[in-house]
Amino acid sequence: MRKIEYEDRACDLCAGRDLEEIWKYSIKSRTKSDITQWKVRNVICRNCGFAFVSPAPTRKSLESHYGDSFELFAGQKPDYSIGKRIRLIKKYSAGRSKKASYLEIGSNNCPEFMSELKKVTSSISTMEINQNCDSSYKNPDEIPAKFADIVSAYFVFEHVPDPKRLLMTCARVMSDSGHMIIEVPDLGIYARDPAGLYLCEHVNHFSPYTLSVAAKLCGLELVEFSRAECSRPFGFVSVFKKSPTKTARAGKNKDEYIISRAAMLEGVNTMKNLSRKIAAARRRMNELAKAGETTILWSANWNCMRLLDGFELPAKALIVDSDIRKKDYFKKVSVHLPSEKLAEIGKASYLVLNAPFYADEIKSWIFDNTGRRFTKEDSLILDYYQ
Ligand SMILES: [Zn+2]
Repeated sequence: MRKIEYEDRACDLCAGRDLEEIWKYSIKSRTKSDITQWKVRNVICRNCGFAFVSPAPTRKSLESHYGDSFELFAGQKPDYSIGKRIRLIKKYSAGRSKKASYLEIGSNNCPEFMSELKKVTSSISTMEINQNCDSSYKNPDEIPAKFADIVSAYFVFEHVPDPKRLLMTCARVMSDSGHMIIEVPDLGIYARDPAGLYLCEHVNHFSPYTLSVAAKLCGLELVEFSRAECSRPFGFVSVFKKSPTKTARAGKNKDEYIISRAAMLEGVNTMKNLSRKIAAARRRMNELAKAGETTILWSANWNCMRLLDGFELPAKALIVDSDIRKKDYFKKVSVHLPSEKLAEIGKASYLVLNAPFYADEIKSWIFDNTGRRFTKEDSLILDYYQ
């Protein structure tokens, strides 16, 4: 088992050390060849209100973890709006003498997005932290100065233990008239959608305000903000340009501390819905197994891992996943391809959907392939909503 090593981390924004613990937990996650053990401690800075994970995972542990993580596999539909991303890129590409050059930090290969991107930009480069993906640059320090007119980072900054370092790089590689598009999970809406709290890989919880404070420290100033134009429903998008001035350190902000602290605590409370659903799924699986009835668990992923942690899966329950690489995802139980278990799926009494985003698609696939239609009564989506 791979253990994430942690190191001391003060507040990135104000260098403060008066950190209030909000939520601490241990969890395991699966990568291609191993299991990663995490010890997550979410805190908030009492001085400026920035929420983050402290101590922070070391760069070395994270590289080992991400280097072994599953990339999206071909054919999986993107879980974000391509249209929204393109619209904003087009807006900041327009009005130049020639089309904008584009650099994406932490890109995941999505052919559909790339082909739309080609129409509105003059060149496309990528810099990936997950070392398995092909990309133009593996290391941000290798990217030449003033390299791109548009630099984007979609849901990357919540993963970076030293966000200022990456923001500085972004400011360096932007052309003088360039723009930086950043999307991250929105701490402001954690109460109803704590997406940012869900993943143990997330080490920053930005509010729209703390992200722009972090950017200011790196010579970037906010020019546009939106929740509606963010490509995922649980985040926000901020656009920055180069600023002639740089703030040295964030000041005291008691209001931000009070507001963000409440958002963190409310988010933690909402996360409990997932634990309740997991408990309900376990109870029902056991009851059905006693009556000789079958449960199908769909998708071998982190949610499924949470469900199996400390729980003996009844013999009458089956795990399926359409990604063949997930066959040996769990040590003790096998994962089957749905096509191998069509008869069992068609006759199953209960369906647990571990991948909320694909739930409707999976239900339709089951209906098309087995004629069985699962309803709200005989299926459960493992998400954290009420
Ligand atoms: Zn602080």
